[in-house]
Amino acid sequence: MKSYILSIDQGTTSSRAIIFDDNLNIVSLAQQDIANFFPNPGWVEMDANEIWESVQNVCPEALRKSGLKPEDIKAIGITNQRETTIVWDKVTQQPVYNALVWQSRQTADLCEMMNRSGFSRLIQDKTGLTIDPYFSASKIRWILDNIDLGQRRADDGELLFGTVDSWLIYKLTNGKIHITDVTNASRTMLMNLDTVQWDDELLNLWNIPDKMLPQIRPSSEIYGYTDLLGCNTPIAAVCGDQQSALFGQMCFNEGECKNTYGTGCFLLFNTGKKRIASKNGLITTVAWKIGDEVTYALEGSVFVAGAAIQWLRDGIKLIKTAAESEDHARSVPDSAGVYVVPAFTGLGAPYWDKQAKGAIFGLTRGTTQNHLIRATLESLAYQTYDVIEALQQDTNIDLKGLQVDGGASQNNYLMQFQSDILQTKIIRPVNFETTALGACMLAGLAIKLFKNKEELRDKYKTDKLFTLMMSKMHQNRLVNGWKKAVKATMDF
Ligand code: ADP
Repeated sequence: MKSYILSIDQGTTSSRAIIFDDNLNIVSLAQQDIANFFPNPGWVEMDANEIWESVQNVCPEALRKSGLKPEDIKAIGITNQRETTIVWDKVTQQPVYNALVWQSRQTADLCEMMNRSGFSRLIQDKTGLTIDPYFSASKIRWILDNIDLGQRRADDGELLFGTVDSWLIYKLTNGKIHITDVTNASRTMLMNLDTVQWDDELLNLWNIPDKMLPQIRPSSEIYGYTDLLGCNTPIAAVCGDQQSALFGQMCFNEGECKNTYGTGCFLLFNTGKKRIASKNGLITTVAWKIGDEVTYALEGSVFVAGAAIQWLRDGIKLIKTAAESEDHARSVPDSAGVYVVPAFTGLGAPYWDKQAKGAIFGLTRGTTQNHLIRATLESLAYQTYDVIEALQQDTNIDLKGLQVDGGASQNNYLMQFQSDILQTKIIRPVNFETTALGACMLAGLAIKLFKNKEELRDKYKTDKLFTLMMSKMHQNRLVNGWKKAVKATMDF
């Protein structure tokens, strides 16, 4: 009899449930979109109850579509949008306010104040993070300071905090279990990266009572059981979405690296048992904890990647679909010296320039829309190059290859160009649902459906391998042009 695992992939715009068989094939998938609210400029919020309801809908729907019985599902793994912050009433299990989404900037002033007070060094040393509204700590503080909590108090445990994983597990177990995993905890700015526990000094700094906090657990073990599917199913994995994708890409070893080409790019690099502090604008984070063993990663993000292709489609209307950008790019022999720097919301790693705006360079009378499209696609590869360059300066590790996923990784022109610019091979798996796959694999390990990581690696199926076809000299010339373009953009 075959065994199956259900992955819950709770994201910013949708919740998905995916059932995998024990060969890591997708058996069924159900998805529900979720609303984002923008109550003020820069604020992004979600309804925590809607998040929970969507999960209650998609899981049984995926089961129905699969034709399996509830007992066939041997475990549930959860992967989720990270940092998003929920505070709820322990007894009524009702949120006291909307979920504050990772993108939300309502705590910019609070973070600025913390920065000015000189805590950035201490916080970076302990958490690997740069003070920013992105992470949960300032969001918890904001809810405690700005929401009418009535008689309820956070310091005697009447109010609980959780990232989305904690919230879902609390609901899935009807209030019995209040936990999170190391990867999610590492994004709160309250966890010490060395002890992988909450840190009293950080809690004092942010004035957050420890009674609110979930217990921090490994990413792969049975935390408890849920009757969501109609029988008792173990919840056996929790892992933040990007870390889960790193695991799903089987980047188990030090030096292995994945890049997700979605709206933005998220690059994670496994640094093994070593936690490496970046000098080049990358974040240090926990990749996962299995048993007693903690694996660390460096992370770099590019704000605008697939979003630049959306801009070609919806903004300046040069294309009708994202996919057709590939044919346009191939219809010209090169980008004819055109560079597009899509710094629409500033520049992320490794530049961290909030003020930068986008720019196009190298226009001539001969420039056509196909050159612009090609140059925009290429900007995704150049931005990834910049993050990898920072990574190599931090680690001295020679990159052996890059595993890719996300919507824009389907573009073969882009992946070939990426291989050429990085001068390394690019590996694209058949199953690009790597985020959900990671949680499935972690859950399968916890219930011993899979013996070990090696067994999982044997199940990896490569869709396409891209190997470099460009000379180092040509690559050098192109990269030099890009560097000049970025510099000019920042100087403008
Ligand atoms: P997210 O999870 O961030 O919503 P996805 O992984 O679903 O993103 O990828 C969607 C993004 O990828 C969009 O920004 C879209 O413009 C881009 N994209 C999708 N297909 C292609 C393609 N064939 N070529 C280039 N970009 C693409």
